Amino acid sequence: MPGVFCVKKHLIETGMAVLMLLCFYILSREAAETAGKLVNVSGNIKEEKVILVDAGHGGADSGMIGVDGLKEKGINLEISVKLKKVLEKRGYTILMTREEDKGLYEENTKNMKAQDLQNRIAMIKEYKPLLAVSIHQNSYSDPAVKGPQVFFFEDSEKGKRLALVIQEKMNQQLEIQRPRAAKGNRTYYLLKRSEGVINIVECGFLTNPDEAGLLQKDDYQQKVALAIADGIDEYLASEKNEKN
Ligand SMILES: [Zn+2]
Repeated sequence: MPGVFCVKKHLIETGMAVLMLLCFYILSREAAETAGKLVNVSGNIKEEKVILVDAGHGGADSGMIGVDGLKEKGINLEISVKLKKVLEKRGYTILMTREEDKGLYEENTKNMKAQDLQNRIAMIKEYKPLLAVSIHQNSYSDPAVKGPQVFFFEDSEKGKRLALVIQEKMNQQLEIQRPRAAKGNRTYYLLKRSEGVINIVECGFLTNPDEAGLLQKDDYQQKVALAIADGIDEYLASEKNEKN
């Protein structure tokens, strides 16, 4: 009965092949799950929830100088670190452009400022965060001028939406008496050259004595960080709703 034998053999072979495929499927799925877990446990980049926080200036670049010689770079870093902690507690993975008083340029470089900005822009390009916020402080010749202001790249619809909501949260939560409006811009190098959604958040004016005083205080810095984080949360929630 060679015919029957052949059919049987064929059935067995088909069965084995299906079984092997099944095993392969289960094993590869487990491997993928394990890899996913490892990424989370080790704190590596969980791609879908990465936010880049850029503390402006640093090192030889002090940024704006405010009342009593107050340097922008230090305030930027203090607020950025607080923002990182708030966002991490909310489940985001945070990339920082700097975590100490150091610029992103090589020593003895000719064009320190350009190299510094290019490296920040390169980080955004490499890691492709959901969005990036660059933390800065403002200054003006008239010491009466004050209040936070958020800047976005003029041609970025998403950048504008993020800026509007961060601006609104800051105006509300910091109880700003004469609130400013978020503003579009086409000339800021960081806004112009960065990929994806990015805002420059000017938290206040270091040339206004009252605001400069507040911006040096831990609890006010924390309020600033919370307002920015709330803005980010609300923006991302609205993005998600739009997708669904
Ligand atoms: Zn600045």
